[in-house]
Amino acid sequence: MHADEWFGDGEGDELLPDVAGLTPVRTLDDMRRRPAVREASTPVEALKRAFGYDAFRPLQGESVDAALAKRDCLVVLPTGGGKSLCYQIPAACGAGLVLVVSPLIALMDDQVAAAREAGLTAVALHSNLGEAAKRTALQQLANGTLDLLYVSPERLVAGDLMGRLDNLALLAVDEAHCVSHWGHDFRPEYRQLRSIFDRFGAVPRMALTATATPQVQDDICVQLGLRTPLRLIGHVDRPNLIYRAVPRHSAAKQALEVIKRHPQEGGIVYAQTRKEVETLAGALVKAGVHAAAYHAGLPAEVRAKAQDDFVNERLDVVVATIAFGMGIDRSNVRYVVHANTPKSIEHYQQEAGRAGRDGLPADCVLLYGAADLMTHRRLATMDGPLSPDRERALDRQLREIGRYAVAPVCRHRLLTEHFGQPYPAPGSEARSEGCGSCDVCLGETKELPAEQAVVTAQKIISAAWRLEGRFGPGQCVDVLMGKATDKSERAGHDRLTVFGLLKDSGETAVRAWIDQLVVQGFLALREEGVYSFLVITDAGRALCRGEGAVRLGVVEERATRSERKTRTPSASAAAAAVGPADQGLFERLRTLRKLLAAKAGVPPYVVFHDSTLQAISAAKPTSMATLIGLKGIGERKAARYGAQVLAVVAGEEPEKAAVRAAQA
Ligand code: ADP
Ligand code: ZN
Repeated sequence: MHADEWFGDGEGDELLPDVAGLTPVRTLDDMRRRPAVREASTPVEALKRAFGYDAFRPLQGESVDAALAKRDCLVVLPTGGGKSLCYQIPAACGAGLVLVVSPLIALMDDQVAAAREAGLTAVALHSNLGEAAKRTALQQLANGTLDLLYVSPERLVAGDLMGRLDNLALLAVDEAHCVSHWGHDFRPEYRQLRSIFDRFGAVPRMALTATATPQVQDDICVQLGLRTPLRLIGHVDRPNLIYRAVPRHSAAKQALEVIKRHPQEGGIVYAQTRKEVETLAGALVKAGVHAAAYHAGLPAEVRAKAQDDFVNERLDVVVATIAFGMGIDRSNVRYVVHANTPKSIEHYQQEAGRAGRDGLPADCVLLYGAADLMTHRRLATMDGPLSPDRERALDRQLREIGRYAVAPVCRHRLLTEHFGQPYPAPGSEARSEGCGSCDVCLGETKELPAEQAVVTAQKIISAAWRLEGRFGPGQCVDVLMGKATDKSERAGHDRLTVFGLLKDSGETAVRAWIDQLVVQGFLALREEGVYSFLVITDAGRALCRGEGAVRLGVVEERATRSERKTRTPSASAAAAAVGPADQGLFERLRTLRKLLAAKAGVPPYVVFHDSTLQAISAAKPTSMATLIGLKGIGERKAARYGAQVLAVVAGEEPEKAAVRAAQA
């Protein structure tokens, strides 16, 4: 195909059409001169110039080096680990065109917006792209000015792009676990990539994913035809996430507590069913929270609006089923609350992992109840009985996530070890007092001493035994608490020796212990229709005879309260991090960011990360030169937004500063 066919006859100095709402800033001639951001340079120079970052995160540098040395590689990095830079930096170094295969349009569009903000020429070819934009993209492709081309696997397999991909420097496959049957999200089209890639001979391949099991890794290498690949496997732990798992007594009230710690910040609340989503969203809105519901039963426009508002920071909280999240790249999600226990540890890791992609602290709170696991089992077997293999897998999944939820063991350690890695990461400083960022290590959840745990468990199990499997967990709690209800009197439970036996421990604790005993298999829930009955198991009977060991944890209510007191109530956590003196500036910069983002038609976090606003608030730069030295500010961003930022730092109102022209 000759380039002119794509150019039409209007070559020259005309402004290129706008591709996705971004202001056209360059002419064709400018582009032939090649933009400054992708001048031939070392990876570290490109990192600084285009993205404004001083140093690579773990394994980023190695993967870039592999690509530049034409070596295939597999990159496994947790969410927020910075996978996109692994293939964007080779393009920014001037190595040539990088082709990125990505499974979702929303993911592609977000990445394209971010790459363009960094000054790279990027486009995603997909069905939502207008004709004019598509023509432009193909022009850029033809004259070699494109840095990054995103396509879906279907599009690549269709074959019409094949003759146009000269000068390919790298074939990158994002969400590469989609190629494997063993992972979640299997996509059959991913299986056809290999034969396409084979036609590009020596062009290096880079497969990237956050899903880390060794089996999936092997499968990716085989299915994508990676040739003696360098395996760059990162540590799965996300140290900036603060994990908590606490018994649920009121989902709305507990979610609200977390939300109140993060005024005006973004968060996600996951619930199990559509109905629970509606109820929770309703309760939060009533409490004055800026929240919206999101589930598959809502009309597409309603869902699209919620997603769009959330990404563009016009909405603080989305209450959703797990249908929400794929393709949400908002990097400053400050908390993820699970109102129910998720399906598996893998699911939890993925859903909670949407918090804190920018590396700043974020809260992940799981509210558990043993009944959640029953619901998962019921949903899994709704279409008939499972094969013995599936049944065993389901048992294991539910047991593991149940254990995560109730075992009084460091949550960071448990998650990391689940993925077969040691905790803490080798080489990191050993921490004798634990991770410092989970409810257990923060001392909010305490483990009962072994002997006390056994005695407590025995009391509960014998109460359940006396109820003869004819009552639910609620009645067992009432009996142990010594609540004189009609039900207790009618059944004569108020005359049982176990009546009021655990009165002093508090209802929340007793409820949680029953859940913990269910998860550990000493008690079980037997379902009949809509009722569930508490029964005792063989292991429970054995424990009452003094055989076996049990672990019980208690949540120290006061710990969370005192922690809350240490924060300035009016400031968001991100603002609080900069210190009281700079909070006002941080908030004004946030307003500026929102205005600039709206003008550029991109989400606010694409303009600047929260961490960049923090750096500016602390440093208060007075010149372009000092501004460029700050984290997250490359040359392009400084040129585009620097004048406005400096004006706000100097005291101008954001609304006024936003309408200032960018520097030439
Ligand atoms: P992933 O795709 O692995 O979840 P991203 O590529 O979206 O992660 O990166 C997460 C965030 O971290 C992005 O906002 C990105 O700009 C930022 N980031 C990436 N690399 C670095 C780095 N070396 N230094 C600072 N921030 C980085
Ligand atoms: Zn811990």
